[in-house]
Amino acid sequence: NFQNVGFIGLGNMGFRMANNLIRAGFNLAVHDINHGVMKMFSDMGIPAKDSPLDVAESSDVVITMLPSSSHVLDVYTGPNGLLHGGSIVRPLLFIDSSTIDPQTSRKLSAAVSQCALKQEKDDWKKPVMLDAPVSGGVIAAEAGTLTFMVGGSQEAYLSAKPLFHSMGKNTIYCGGAGTGSAAKICNNLAMAVSMLGVSEALALGQSLGIDASTLTQVFNSSSARCWSSDSYNPVPGVMEGVPASRNYAGGFASKLMSKDLNLAAASAKDVGIECPLTSQAGEIYESVCKDGHESEDFSCVFRHHYSGQDE
Ligand code: NAD
Repeated sequence: NFQNVGFIGLGNMGFRMANNLIRAGFNLAVHDINHGVMKMFSDMGIPAKDSPLDVAESSDVVITMLPSSSHVLDVYTGPNGLLHGGSIVRPLLFIDSSTIDPQTSRKLSAAVSQCALKQEKDDWKKPVMLDAPVSGGVIAAEAGTLTFMVGGSQEAYLSAKPLFHSMGKNTIYCGGAGTGSAAKICNNLAMAVSMLGVSEALALGQSLGIDASTLTQVFNSSSARCWSSDSYNPVPGVMEGVPASRNYAGGFASKLMSKDLNLAAASAKDVGIECPLTSQAGEIYESVCKDGHESEDFSCVFRHHYSGQDE
């Protein structure tokens, strides 16, 4: 029974996910290092706690939604962290929805399973951890239509489904600890390469005298059709409602894509797999960020890397 939910990391995504849990009737306790956002929750009558440990002490399950691996490690194993350096914890389940590397997810899952859970009648149980990153972005977080890709114990996954369904539409069980994180970085690697491929082809097409809308129409009825061409087209004016048509504002920041490509490259190195497109895509996103476009949506590679419109 996961009625008491702790939520840590109330940024673009976590703020909206936590609100959907509140709407679904869960009792929340929250924590963030940003005092402004903590005040927004305490003004709504939601307990805003001073540390991850304080959240853990009042929760059956704790969800984290933090920027990167170092923040997640800090919140779990740092001073006043969720695992508070000891061997006894309160929550039965830990869910990390941040996009981090699978190695860190596995390390934390092992650390959690080395803890014991003190039950009321003095019998001891093992707490468990799920890595459950999401796809869908801020709009899906707001609408409660995220996709969760989940690694860890299948039993824990099944027991956490009501939580996932209060924040998302689809949940996919991927396998043991770390496979949710692996799925997420692989998804984003494929998405980066397809975005670069579509951008490169549309830029070449324009230079060869084909209008981008016409070439997109060709792609979308041919074998080049993909999400980057038919749902998130990178050329301004080709589609309505996408970041490309509002000066690449909002959406999925280039710096987050750069981070995720670094995670993919590190994981590839770890397992000894050659991933040349990951390296090249990573270099392109790094240079886009260095040129000052790190907060623009990742489809801005069309403008800043290919179309020579960098101003
Ligand atoms: P964000 O930077 O908006 O939010 C992160 C929050 O964590 C902030 O409120 C920050 O104050 C808080 N925080 C940082 N360190 C902390 C600490 N030590 N203790 C407590 N709170 C701390 O990030 P976001 O856009 O919400 O993304 C969160 C995660 O979700 C990232 O891993 C990102 O890659 C992933 N993600 C983001 C999107 C997206 O479209 N934004 C989509 C899918 C996945």
